[in-house]
Amino acid sequence: PLLRLVVLYGGVSAEHDVSCVTAAHVLAAADRSKYDLVPVGITKSGVWLRNDKAIATIVEGGELPDKLEPAGTEVEPLTAIRGDGGSQAVTVVLPLLHGPHGEDGTIQGMLELFKVPYVGAGVLSSAVCMDKAMAKIVAEQSGIPQCRWVQFRDGIDDPNEIVSRVVDELGLPVFVKPANLGSSVGITKAHDASEVDKAIDVALRYDDIVIIEEAVTAREVEVAVLGNTAPESSVPGEILPGSEFYDYEDKYVTGAAQLVIPADLPEDATRDVRELAARAFTALRCAGMARVDFFYEADGRGWLLNEINTIPGFTPASMYPKLWEATGISYPDLIDQLVALALDGHRRRT
Ligand code: ATP
Ligand code: MG
Ligand code: MG
Ligand code: MG
Repeated sequence: PLLRLVVLYGGVSAEHDVSCVTAAHVLAAADRSKYDLVPVGITKSGVWLRNDKAIATIVEGGELPDKLEPAGTEVEPLTAIRGDGGSQAVTVVLPLLHGPHGEDGTIQGMLELFKVPYVGAGVLSSAVCMDKAMAKIVAEQSGIPQCRWVQFRDGIDDPNEIVSRVVDELGLPVFVKPANLGSSVGITKAHDASEVDKAIDVALRYDDIVIIEEAVTAREVEVAVLGNTAPESSVPGEILPGSEFYDYEDKYVTGAAQLVIPADLPEDATRDVRELAARAFTALRCAGMARVDFFYEADGRGWLLNEINTIPGFTPASMYPKLWEATGISYPDLIDQLVALALDGHRRRT
């Protein structure tokens, strides 16, 4: 029988819409001679819907909507994953969910409990990479260079004290971010103390842990990593933001940002960042895939790790698949490799 590939998309996080765009493309591109595709959409309120209609329209009808909204029959999560019973087919879950309750180890924990193989990082790595504060602490311990930062924990730290530490230790401007999110949601560049204060309140709408970083003046370069124990790095790609920084509008609304692939960098800088990306991937115990984001200070500290995304944007126009395309792996092949890595990781863990 064909392998059952359960494509989980949507989700309860602020990155729901991004995930719906990705799902439409993955369903259109996945090789139907290999997979029995099972699209399962999760609504913003957390209801799981098996979207059989998406198979008829996208997979069989060849129609590609801008994005695939969760729709269809409500199913219990476990039933959605295992199927209605009787099927002897091997199942692999592809969680195309960004942000909390998708990229943060919660879904991964559920899949571990039910012994279902899935694409991407496991519970611990997902949770650590999703939490920018924890990720920085682990990266620091592993000797991976990063920018200077401080954290603000709601109910624990005194906001006035944090703001004055920020001004003293980091200088201005700074970037203020919710610890657990993505797609630049909740992120503000703050130029003075009162903006820092306001930016913390914005970030607190999304998480009770906020991180504040020095604003680095540098090029933004990303590397795609693929593998389990011996991960490979793609060629690096550079982002030329269309706004003051690479914000949500830039990523998904105006699309003004440009991606330069491969990034125009000296040979040794390219070699270094590819090596550093794989090192960060291993240090943070990633598996399957991750997009590792860097800053490059050509006349300063060189490479600084920004963050690791364990479920990066995955439309054919997204950086992760484009980087692999430029490195020699097509979009459908990438899906196949991720499924194979999921099965390999599952075998090693069980
Ligand atoms: P995603 O998961 O979509 O990649 P994110 O929400 O996790 O994004 P970051 O990558 O941390 O957010 O930051 C978003 C953007 O903000 C960066 O791509 C960069 O343009 C800018 N930025 C973030 N931190 C800094 C910093 N310390 N100095 C300069 N620019 C920054
Ligand atoms: Mg991120
Ligand atoms: Mg992200
Ligand atoms: Mg990023």
